[in-house]
Amino acid sequence: MNSYHIWTTGCQMNKADSERLCSALDQMGLVPSASKEEADIVVLNTCVVRQNAEDKAVGTLTSLKPTKELNPDKVIALMGCMVGPNTTNLEKRFPFVDVFMAPQQYQPLITFLSEKLDIDADGCIGPLTAAPAISTYIPIIHGCDKFCSFCIIPYRRGREKSRTIAEIVYETEMLVNRGVKEVTLLGQNVDSYGHDLTGHINLSDLLEAVNEVSGLERIRFLTSHPNDMQDSIIEAVNGLEKVCENINLPFQAGDNEILRTMRRGYTNEEYRRLIDKIRHKVSNVSISTDLIVGFCGETDEQFLNTLNMVKDIKFDKVHSAAYSNREGTIASRKMVDDIREEVKKERLQIINDTQEEIVTVINSGLKEKMQEVLVEGRKKGKWFGRNRNDKLVFFTNDDMRAGQVVDVKITETSPWYLEGSIHNEQGKN
Ligand code: SF4
Repeated sequence: MNSYHIWTTGCQMNKADSERLCSALDQMGLVPSASKEEADIVVLNTCVVRQNAEDKAVGTLTSLKPTKELNPDKVIALMGCMVGPNTTNLEKRFPFVDVFMAPQQYQPLITFLSEKLDIDADGCIGPLTAAPAISTYIPIIHGCDKFCSFCIIPYRRGREKSRTIAEIVYETEMLVNRGVKEVTLLGQNVDSYGHDLTGHINLSDLLEAVNEVSGLERIRFLTSHPNDMQDSIIEAVNGLEKVCENINLPFQAGDNEILRTMRRGYTNEEYRRLIDKIRHKVSNVSISTDLIVGFCGETDEQFLNTLNMVKDIKFDKVHSAAYSNREGTIASRKMVDDIREEVKKERLQIINDTQEEIVTVINSGLKEKMQEVLVEGRKKGKWFGRNRNDKLVFFTNDDMRAGQVVDVKITETSPWYLEGSIHNEQGKN
């Protein structure tokens, strides 16, 4: 038994968890396999934020049952949001699963494998040691304390728990030594980073510390919450050289009554004022957002308030979703999911069409402009990377390698990516 396969769905937090588990399994001497059918150990790292994500995870898990019956030694582990604090029901439903692990709880699998394989796995779970890419994710805070009425995350990922600055800086240094040039500091609500640590620490202190890591080119952070976006964080984005001018600030709904029933804790007007402040303080900042249409009781007029927010603010990116009822949330217990699916679909389409028009105009403004791009790799015969505003840029050049920072003159634009040609290489690699 020596090969493993990790199947991952969902958010960047899940991807970061999988990278960490990979790192631990590699340190145990196991090797990755491209196929979950052939691997000796299969881990499904699941997301249940939306019903169809959970259905997909259940389908994939069930498809592994015949292989397990043929080969009882195969190890199957279920990880991520699908596994809550109590696994009794899951154990009954999926008796062929060997190990259940809640998000970030890798130890049950490590213990199971070290007993089964008779190896000492002490110290295998720790900071990420592999270098998966030029740009990688570092979780800085786990869980969420907000309990928005539509969201299952606090029940599945638990309460907020920050990692220390020292641990995160150490991990960043190790990653940089292995070729990483950009880190995205990750959490369900990164803006509340540090409130549970001793001393008056917040995200801006962490950004300052990571900014000092030599050899690192760029820092991003994801996801912010309007209630916790302190001035010092905005100042850090403006003042720290490596922190990219790009903020993801979900607003979720533009109507104050819907915001109240969502338990978001701010109003339309407060959100708009925050955006004005960020734009005033950080020049050339790009802002992305998340929103939900068709939340319980959302009238046409209330939907229009969301649409107007999109039209007025002109985000660089909008992650939109139709409301999907999740069992166990406050909304599922206290509200009625009463908006018809066709209406939700229609509203989603209106948002997406509007946003496409907006971003077409924003991106066309970049034509003939110079953009600093961190080269990430090659796709379909072209090099690609992202500018500081997180826009995908393609360009052609023969003499290039991933990890370089180059100036690209934009020649073509579209809502989804930019194209250009190399102006000069900054030689920062
Ligand atoms: S802030 Fe709200 S939406 Fe975001 S993870 Fe926490 S509870 Fe969920």
